[in-house]
Amino acid sequence: MTLIDGRAISKAILEGVTAGVAELRAAGTTPALAIVVPTDDEATAWYVRSIVRAAERVGIEARRIDLHGTTAVELVTELAALSADPAVHGIICQTPLPKGITLDQVGQHIAPAKDVDGANPESLGRLAAGLPAFAPATAQAVVEILQREQTPLEGADVVVVGRSNVVGKPAALLLLAENATVTICHSRTRDLAAHTRQGDVLVAAVGRARMLGAEHVKPGAVVIDVGTNPTPDGGLVGDVDTEAVEPVAGAITPVPGGVGPVTTALLLRNVVTAARG
Ligand code: NDP
Repeated sequence: MTLIDGRAISKAILEGVTAGVAELRAAGTTPALAIVVPTDDEATAWYVRSIVRAAERVGIEARRIDLHGTTAVELVTELAALSADPAVHGIICQTPLPKGITLDQVGQHIAPAKDVDGANPESLGRLAAGLPAFAPATAQAVVEILQREQTPLEGADVVVVGRSNVVGKPAALLLLAENATVTICHSRTRDLAAHTRQGDVLVAAVGRARMLGAEHVKPGAVVIDVGTNPTPDGGLVGDVDTEAVEPVAGAITPVPGGVGPVTTALLLRNVVTAARG
């Protein structure tokens, strides 16, 4: 079984991003990403720091806007102001959001041209319609990894477990655009294993530690584990029980070191795309 190296894929993407940033800077544009942080959640803070570091390394200006304890009105006003600011090319809004505010509500106030993490429902709608749009970077990472691993997608049976607007649904749409035959499973799916065992490719985006075992995997399948579940000792595990699946799967992404680093690299690639206009 192959353990897919997400860090190596991320590095390769970031080389292209660095070159793209250099071109833009030479032409007088400094690509800039605004990161709105409406929470003091520690895991979010860690993720934001990792994005800022990665952005700085490739020459993208990362502007962090702390709005802990904000109201919906203040948040929407900030997102609208950033959307109108010509010096800002990409905007992301971190979760968790304050109680009573949903990402769909605030996402609508991120201009689609700057919506580098696909948070505006309009971006998801355009994706569904096959029109140009930014998909959430995590969903893009799923397809990017499969393409770089040269996994055949055309006509392949792909099973996505999870149907959220940020991962499962957009990943399924992107895979459909690659001409895969896509099955989407969720919490109400009857006999999950009967479905997942059909997948030449299995995408796990559930958020339940190690819930998918050997019985869920078709022999030889490529398994993309999107799940990031914190462990009591401060570590992270995926949605897939990697050890159990190892004798069955053909390849799997590890957690950490799989989808996560590729997601960050694609977010930055999206900023370059947005800055090119
Ligand atoms: P959500 O909680 O929004 O969605 C989870 C999905 O899993 C839902 O569609 C839910 O079904 C489904 N589900 C829950 N329980 C079961 C079950 N027992 N059987 C089958 N399906 C089930 O999570 P997200 O989509 O936001 O995230 C999923 C995972 O991906 C999380 O671990 C998250 O941390 C991780 N993630 C990782 C990123 C990365 O860069 N690596 C980025 C973003 C997320 P239903 O719709 O019926 O409720």
